[in-house]
Amino acid sequence: MNCYICGKDVEVIKLSDSEEIPCPDCSLYRISGTAIALFKRHNWRFNMELARRWIASQQGSGTVPLIDSSRAAILL
Ligand SMILES: [Zn+2]
Repeated sequence: MNCYICGKDVEVIKLSDSEEIPCPDCSLYRISGTAIALFKRHNWRFNMELARRWIASQQGSGTVPLIDSSRAAILL
């Protein structure tokens, strides 16, 4: 599997309704099943800089940053 942000080959952890991506370059984040479906349907690509900045801004909150479908739409 590949990181949804930078395309690097990473070991994706499948969760019940999301995936966890431990990307060494983008850092750890989760992406929801609905966001993944949108990605595949529309062939979306994240804006790498925007997405990484958002993940960085979420760190320290104690939870893994989750990119849901509405968040994904503004990180393109
Ligand atoms: Zn990445």
